[in-house]
Amino acid sequence: MVSSCAAAQRDTRDVALLAVSKTFDADAVREAAACGQRAFGENYIQEAVEKIALLADLGLEWHCIGPVQSNKTRLVAQNFDWVHTIDRLKIAQRLSEQRPPSMAPLNCCLQVNIDGGATKSGLAPEEVATLAREVMALPGLRLRGLMTLPEPADRVEDQLTVHRRARALFDTLRAQGLPLDTLSMGMSGDMEAAIAAGSTMVRVGTALFGRRPARA
Ligand SMILES: *Cc1c(COP(=O)(O)O)cnc(C)c1O
Repeated sequence: MVSSCAAAQRDTRDVALLAVSKTFDADAVREAAACGQRAFGENYIQEAVEKIALLADLGLEWHCIGPVQSNKTRLVAQNFDWVHTIDRLKIAQRLSEQRPPSMAPLNCCLQVNIDGGATKSGLAPEEVATLAREVMALPGLRLRGLMTLPEPADRVEDQLTVHRRARALFDTLRAQGLPLDTLSMGMSGDMEAAIAAGSTMVRVGTALFGRRPARA
């Protein structure tokens, strides 16, 4: 990540590293935390909640980066600091209602289907502004930005094209007055292109933890 920032002439302080610890156990997270990593991303909510409990003593920041079904909103609202995958008002409303008043509002990114995959989750780019304003009105949530999860592409040029489109949308929405400070974009295979295109948070799993074990 440091070399990707250097290549893009960006300050490392402007790009946050989210360590994606899905499928790795609490000890692996503890090791990464001992090296100074504070923010961790998880996809599978039940698995994450167990880890979060085991590691409560460390005061880490937990990001939900997997899909959130209605029956899982309460677990997310009660356990996470961030959720990156909001693409429906109904889920946002439930998260807001279920966020315990004793906790800070849940930080949210709206997931955008930036490369137009027909079966994919995420909002169409033209839908984002409306949901963003609805989320801003929910007291249990704090709108932070956008998240993208494009189809993997081998060629850096193709990665850049898609990531630049996301950054342009992010800039347009900010110019319209939406208070967005986070563009969650880029993974192990495309973080260099994502950082070059203006990501502010890369979600990195295998490049940090190694290959994931198969899920049981
Ligand atoms: C697994 C995952 C990542 C990390 O992927 P790597 O290729 O291991 O870096 C990032 N974002 C999401 C949404 C994921 O599901």
